[in-house]
Amino acid sequence: MKICKMRIVDIHTHNSNADNALISVAPQKLPLHSLNSYSVGLHPWDTTSVTDSDLEALKTAALQNNVYAIGECGIDKLRGASLEIQKKIFEYHIQLSEDLCKPLIIHQVKSLDEIFFYRKKYSPSQRWLIHGFRGNLLTAKQLLNSGIEFSLGSNFVPEILQIMPMKSLFLESDDSSCFSALLCKVAKILNKSEQELEQLLVENNHSFLNV
Ligand SMILES: [Zn+2]
Repeated sequence: MKICKMRIVDIHTHNSNADNALISVAPQKLPLHSLNSYSVGLHPWDTTSVTDSDLEALKTAALQNNVYAIGECGIDKLRGASLEIQKKIFEYHIQLSEDLCKPLIIHQVKSLDEIFFYRKKYSPSQRWLIHGFRGNLLTAKQLLNSGIEFSLGSNFVPEILQIMPMKSLFLESDDSSCFSALLCKVAKILNKSEQELEQLLVENNHSFLNV
């Protein structure tokens, strides 16, 4: 039996001391024994010198009990390795996510076409979450229609909340430290108390993370 403090509200942070969050780390930074919950992946920005042993390390780390998701991974056309290399590394994460039945957390910059392409190519059984979504209503609808979900950070477009299925609502702090302000803002727009919103997010987190 696993003893853990699972309750999560913030689906994506890089703050390794965060409480109530899914902490995104590189494989070599993953703590062996921790009651925190993690996602593990090779960030697109860190893809310029990825070796086979890095991919092996990722696979080993992804098997750990406190790792609930694969990522952050993806494609960034403005930073990181060449597009060709980023695509290969992203596909490796997709395969890992499918093999281990752990959902995928995606970083995308100017690469939505590629994300749609891979979604079609793999028809994955695992859920995919694009983090830090700042797109417009149209893009949000296209993603949701393709079965791709997304999480909202401090720069989200408020109108998105009008079309968002509540079971697909995810909030994140990413690199910022103002999660409570985000929670407060979204609760106000949705006309919910912060406690109600937190409860909804926890349920969505657990469903997304297959726990
Ligand atoms: Zn991030």
